[in-house]
Amino acid sequence: MDRPTISPPTAPSCPRCIGAGQPHYFASARRCAFAGDVFSPDNWNCETVNTLRDTAEQLGFKARDEDVSFGFIPAGARYIAVTWYKERGRTSEMLVMGDDETPHRPTLTEIDEAIAWASKFWIPRIVRDAGAVPGVTEGCEP
Ligand SMILES: [Zn+2]
Repeated sequence: MDRPTISPPTAPSCPRCIGAGQPHYFASARRCAFAGDVFSPDNWNCETVNTLRDTAEQLGFKARDEDVSFGFIPAGARYIAVTWYKERGRTSEMLVMGDDETPHRPTLTEIDEAIAWASKFWIPRIVRDAGAVPGVTEGCEP
């Protein structure tokens, strides 16, 4: 497997990276995944990506097979799928997928909307259904 090319740290660009700053315990500087118009796999500990990964895990939509982690969050008749190595800070790929659209790397706006959707319609249901069969959930209409 080819190793990704790692760029030098860049100034944080998404609002979550700017707000979170640089924790003293980070071994390297953050590399925001949204320095450009769409998600870039040349990232490390982008706070928006971390929020999406955490949301997938909170919803029970995260798995790890061997060294590869995978998660997704519902985003209103579409999904944001994300994959990364082990539990490390770099996120390898992120795609928006839906029934009637070509898969594509998301914009920051699409990620913000997906996180808001999951927080409004999915997380409350997971909390409400706590104690139900794990992993069995149905979508909610707004
Ligand atoms: Zn960021």
